[in-house]
Amino acid sequence: MRGYTPFINGEDLPWDGPWLDSTDPATGQAWSRVARCSAAEADQAIKSADRAFRTGPWAEAGAAARADILDRLAGALEARWEELVEPEIRDNGKRITEVRGQFAGLHSWYRHFASEARKLAPEPQANSIHGVESTGHHLPYGVVVAITPWNSPLMILAWKLAPALAAGNTVVVKPSEMASASTLEFARLAHQAGLPSGVLNVVTGLGHEAGEALVRHPLTRKVTFTGSDMGGRKVAEAAAAGVVPATLELGGKSPQVVFADADLENAVNGVLSGIFLSNGQTCVAGSRLLLQAPIAEAFTARLLERARALRLGDPMDPATQIAPLANEPHLRKVRSMIVQAKDDGAECLLDGLATANGKTGYYVGPTVFSGVTQNMQLWREEVFGPVLAIAQFDSEEEAIRLANDSNYGLAAGVWTSDTARGARAAAAIEAGTVYVNHYRSVDPSSPIGGIKLSGYGRELGPDAVKDFLQAKSIWTGTAPVPDPFPA
Ligand code: NAD
Repeated sequence: MRGYTPFINGEDLPWDGPWLDSTDPATGQAWSRVARCSAAEADQAIKSADRAFRTGPWAEAGAAARADILDRLAGALEARWEELVEPEIRDNGKRITEVRGQFAGLHSWYRHFASEARKLAPEPQANSIHGVESTGHHLPYGVVVAITPWNSPLMILAWKLAPALAAGNTVVVKPSEMASASTLEFARLAHQAGLPSGVLNVVTGLGHEAGEALVRHPLTRKVTFTGSDMGGRKVAEAAAAGVVPATLELGGKSPQVVFADADLENAVNGVLSGIFLSNGQTCVAGSRLLLQAPIAEAFTARLLERARALRLGDPMDPATQIAPLANEPHLRKVRSMIVQAKDDGAECLLDGLATANGKTGYYVGPTVFSGVTQNMQLWREEVFGPVLAIAQFDSEEEAIRLANDSNYGLAAGVWTSDTARGARAAAAIEAGTVYVNHYRSVDPSSPIGGIKLSGYGRELGPDAVKDFLQAKSIWTGTAPVPDPFPA
């Protein structure tokens, strides 16, 4: 069985410590194991990142040289991304069509942030004081700790790592204990492409052990976290103890609002993509469907027809449409939430537990509930699985009220042919991203992130590199300093 060990200072660390098995969700069998790191390896990795930040080729490189290195990394990814596909699928069971789609474009995030690095320059400040000039500069933080979840390890890492490196920081990554393999393969590839030793380190293991030790390390200067709101709270508390800023990208319970005047076939496609791509294991999953009463019955019937036809299968098979859930504890959680929704009195129109019955691996098929009310767990809590909760509304005002009745605020979809209504709803819905007659796109040009329990801070967008920089003002006198105590 393949053993994955931490990657520190440009090398795989020899390992005789404890291991964690990594299970293939399609078979339920362990396919590899990963080192269960402790505070000792966290310390080693942070010190290596701190050294690389202060001395050596990365410390001496200006923004343009860093951009060149990022471009070389992008080139290596463009040439070799296929090597990373299988380790990620064996770990998290994501279907090959989606993983190939993500990885074929992975290089473009690094290219984008290479070009952002080239734009970094001091900015003159128009101060109002006579006899002194001031300029705004930007300082990298130093060691950034990046903590990632299991659902899309390498894409989420790109959104953190590329801007953090463009800004001149060095990074220690703690991938999910459920899916570390692709991150370790990637770190090796990045090193071979010319990323100097110590600039990117990977510490594997459990969140409350290795993860917390990294966040609490006295040389850690910034934390960027993607994961659950439970994990986010703990990370934020640990970061606050060291007065270290944290960016938190957390979960969601995103609404999709379909008005009666919408192009219904278009909306069905958007709703299917929102909840059933990656088996609902995406932060922006559109898991609450709000249907205007006159079209509710016809829309639900069409949606069910499409959802029933989705093919469950092996994640490595390009024909598969629904692959297994990523791991066994998650399967248990999704199952228990489906059972609870039934107990709470929601009507189960499509039962993914029945569809998956008898299959080896962590399968749950598309699941649809109607009559979901605001007091039910299924309305309030993130499932992070292929489970859709449907409710109805009459007026636009009621739709907005229902959409906003959530502790989360990551994304939302609005489907209508009335442009003014689309704009009104988009403005009124409390979420970091609202899609109108569309769902799910992500691009370096647009910030992504949430409000309320969905987190704080943003990734991507025009300020993505600045999130990894600290402002610094330099004042230069151009006239004699007046006597402060004239006679
Ligand atoms: P998780 O919170 O369990 O774990 C995420 C990462 O945090 C893992 O690497 C874990 O080891 C680490 N961690 C956990 N506790 C920690 C602690 N005390 N200190 C330091 N590190 C700790 O989340 P998950 O189950 O891996 O991922 C699923 C969650 O991620 C879902 O809630 C999903 O919505 C969210 N997510 C959000 C986004 C986004 O951009 N907003 C994207 C993808 C996933």
